Formats: sequence, C-alpha cells, structure tokens
Amino acid sequence: MDWPALQQTVAGCRACALCQGRTQTVFGAGHQQGQWLIVGEAPGAQEDALGEPFVGPSGQLLDSMLQALGLSRQTDGEPNRSVYIANALKCRPPANRTPQAQELQACAPFLQRQIALQQPRTILAMGKTAAQALLGDPAPLGQLRGRVHSLGGSSVIVTYHPSYLLRSPGEKAKAWADLCLAADTAGLPQK
Ligand code: SF4
Repeated sequence: MDWPALQQTVAGCRACALCQGRTQTVFGAGHQQGQWLIVGEAPGAQEDALGEPFVGPSGQLLDSMLQALGLSRQTDGEPNRSVYIANALKCRPPANRTPQAQELQACAPFLQRQIALQQPRTILAMGKTAAQALLGDPAPLGQLRGRVHSLGGSSVIVTYHPSYLLRSPGEKAKAWADLCLAADTAGLPQK
C-alpha cells in the first residue's frame, strides 16, 4: 500500500472497538519523506476533533522542542530537518485512557507500514506506549531512555511525551538531553 491507500484503509478501519467512539481517525501529519519520525501514543480530544496529531498545548510544546533542534513538521522542508508525526493508535481511546495491548496490536500494522514507506533515519518515541509499540520492550521509560535502539534501518530514541512534560516541567532537562542524543545520532548539524 502506498501513502494514499494506507490513509484510506486507516480511515475505514474497524479492527478494534476504538472505532466506535472516534470522530475520525488521526493518520499522521508532516513530511512523508522527512528523515525524522515522531511517534506518540494516541489521539486526544482535540486531535480526534481536528484529525491532526499533536495539536493543542502538547503539540505546541512538541513544535518548540523541534524548533530548538532546527526541525519542523512542514511538508516542504529539507528532508534532514523535517519530521513526520504519527501515533501508535489512530483512534482516540475513551476519556484518553491508556491504550490496551489488543488495541496496540490491532493498530500496529499501520504504524509499521508508515515506517516502511517513510524509511526515517531517526525515530523519537514519545512516552512509554510509543516506546513499547515500537520496540516491544515493556521496560520502564527510565530504562529505555539514554541509549540508541535500533528498528530496521532506523535509530530509535525514547523520551517523555510532551503532555507528561507539561505536567512535570522539572523533567524538561532530561527531555532536552534525549533530543541532543537524537541529534547527535542523526549527525544533525546544529543551526
Ligand atoms: Fe483500526 Fe487502529 Fe482505529 Fe483500532 S485504533 S479501529 S486498529 S485504526
């Protein structure tokens, strides 16, 4: 499946019960040939309403973090400074509860196909659910941070989800260290 066929398939997906409560699926956004992929957990209320990942306060924080590295989610930027953004789940869990294992399993082929189409050089896994979905490793986030994981041809760096950073601003320094690790791993020249 190419990008348009994949997006159409996701839009009509009823493979798990989350389809019943969604306003719409949230497929992803950004530069599909970008060398960076950001993976979050699942759509929240605003994402479900707008059909875009990472909008609202957590999206603004993500954009600030990306900007600090000279990255953006614009669709027409240089590939080495452009990101695509997707979630592990494409439909909103009720009341933003944590995704269940069977939901992640049902939705996994879509994220896997997005990765295969994009072939990102670097993947930032934001939060434990994203890390688990990508790496299949149930270890706590603290044990997954601070090192470079490998997924196919991509390097995976695990960091905190922006919504967690909004609740725990004291952890922002650790998130910045994770971003610097990602930039070093990608050989990203600092602007
Ligand atoms: Fe399909 Fe994923 Fe939505 Fe479940 S969460 S209905 S698997 S698109």
